Order: sequence, then C-alpha cells, then structure tokens
Amino acid sequence: MKLSEIYSNKSKLTFSFEVFPPKNGDTQNLFKELAKMNEQKPALISVTYGAGGSNRNTSLNIVKELKNNLKQPVMPHFTCVCSNKEYIENYIKEIENLGITNILALRGDEPQEIEVCYRDFKSALDLIKYLKKHSELEYAVAAYPEKHPKAKSLNQDIGILLKKQSLGAKVAYTQVFFDNQSFYNFFDICTKKGITLPIIPGIMPIINYNQLKRIVELSGTKINPKVIQYFEKYKNSKEDTIKAGIEFASIQCEKLINFGIKGIHFYTLNKARSSIEVIGNII
Ligand code: FAD
Repeated sequence: MKLSEIYSNKSKLTFSFEVFPPKNGDTQNLFKELAKMNEQKPALISVTYGAGGSNRNTSLNIVKELKNNLKQPVMPHFTCVCSNKEYIENYIKEIENLGITNILALRGDEPQEIEVCYRDFKSALDLIKYLKKHSELEYAVAAYPEKHPKAKSLNQDIGILLKKQSLGAKVAYTQVFFDNQSFYNFFDICTKKGITLPIIPGIMPIINYNQLKRIVELSGTKINPKVIQYFEKYKNSKEDTIKAGIEFASIQCEKLINFGIKGIHFYTLNKARSSIEVIGNII
C-alpha cells in the first residue's frame, strides 16, 4: 500500500515500527522480532540505512525478508549523503524492482570513516527532487520537533519541511522526543505555515538506561532531568526499566492521541515487546 493510502483514513490511528540492521550482521534474532511485530499488522515497518551505504546489504536483506517472506508493507530508509548519483540511481532501481512503493528519503550525516565523500546530492531536498522526477516511489521525510541539531532555527527547519511537502512528500516522521510539549509547539507552527501532510510522532519506549543517555547525547533530544531520574531508579534491573519504559511511552502516546495525531512510529530498538505492550495499553 502506498503512503498516501495508508494515511488517507482520517479516523484510523496507524502504527508503524522502525528497525535497524544489527551491527554484527546477525539478522536471525531480528527476523524473530519482526515476525512478532508483524502480528500487530502495522501500517508498515521501516528499515534504517547507514549513511554512505555502510550497511547497505544488511539493510536490503531485512527489506527483502519483510517484503517476500513476512509479506509486510516495508519502507526502506535511504540516505543520499556521500553517495554519487550513479550509486543512488542504482539503489532506487533496486528498491523499485523489489516491488516496493515507499521510501523514507533522507540526507544522513557524513560518516567520519568514509574517505571519499561524494556530494552529488547535498540535502534530502536533492534526493526528493530526483525521486519526483525519476521514480514511482512515494516518499516520506524526516521532521524535527526540537529542531535539527545543525539547523539555525526551528523556523528554518520548518521552512525545509514545507519545501519537502511542496515537492510531494506524503508524510513526515519525527525524530524521537520525550517531551510532548515540543511536538505540540512544532505541530502548531507547522499548521500555521501551511503544512498539511501527516506528521507522525516518533516514540521510543526505553529499554535500557545507558542507551537512553546515549540517544539523548547523539540526537540532541531534549530531556527533562526528571525523566532521567525516573529511569535512573530502575537502571540496575532490565525488567523494571522495560516496564517503566512501557509506562512512560504509553502515557506519552495517550496524550498525543488526545492531541489528534494520525499515527505513531515506534523506534523499537529491534525489540517487539515494548511497542506491542504500549499499543495494547492505548487501544
Ligand atoms: P535535510 O532535510 O536535508 O536537512 C536537515 C536540516 O538541515 C533541515 O531541516 C535544515 O534545517 C537543514 N538544511 C537542509 N537543507 C538546507 C539548505 N539547503 N539550507 C539550509 N539548511 C538546510 N540517518 C541515517 O543515517 N539513516 C537512517 O536510516 C535515518 N533514519 C531517520 C529516520 C527519521 C524518522 C529521522 C527523524 C532521522 C533519521 N536519520 C537517519 C537521521 C538523519 O539522517 C539526520 O538527522 C540528518 O542529519 C538529516 O537528514 P534529513 O533528511 O533530515 O536532512
């Protein structure tokens, strides 16, 4: 199903899951988790892609498993940074030849370890323009309720999102956030500026305290010290952290649903349980 169809039903709340290629390349455990996610009949499962193509093959193998064996709507992510035009063209063709209809179009961050970094496409906008002209894929884009860490201002960021919309983006998925107020502010400004495409909040049920701290550092996500303290209490118990993460994310989602969002995109960290339990709590 195409993105425009998935998000066309105004009264239906959609759930989607995001997974990433495991660092050690071992996809067997992930495939078991994907089968569990699949039982929830999500609108789609998205698969991240390493900037510069660092995990291209594993990412594609997961996409193929989802499409061919689990018969699940899948949305590959694709980053254009550090890849030349020919490489990008070939990758897009490969995705289309698999019968895939949707893609999350991203710039990505230049990886330090890549020696030759091509800059044929400088931003997600260049990739989107390419897709618009040369492919049948529908494209989703990234959005940043707390501003992209490198953006000059939230207004500039929202201006870029508006351009993505005018170039045909069908939906925006947000960066993870733990403070709903950031999303509400962002959404209101977007609406005032004429953004009408569905903005789907990215929610991450916490499963590990140290991981939470790392994610906050890496993504520049704001986090209330009280939230850190809340999870710190459980840091020595894996099970208690998971339960606290489910409770925190369930409350966050309930409030977002009351606000009127159209769907939730779960950053699953490759584990099905927490997102599934959150869904069970909120529907
Ligand atoms: P862009 O939209 O090109 O740019 C991001 C920001 O930079 C803009 O909002 C704007 O503020 C500024 N900017 C862009 N163009 C201009 C311009 N012409 N002039 C001035 N300012 C400009 N990374 C991965 O490597 N792999 C993934 O699979 C992945 N998945 C993601 C999924 C989601 C839902 C999100 C939110 C992020 C994901 N990322 C992923 C991270 C993303 O690649 C980084 O945040 C990257 O730095 C920006 O990518 P983008 O597509 O938002 O870039």
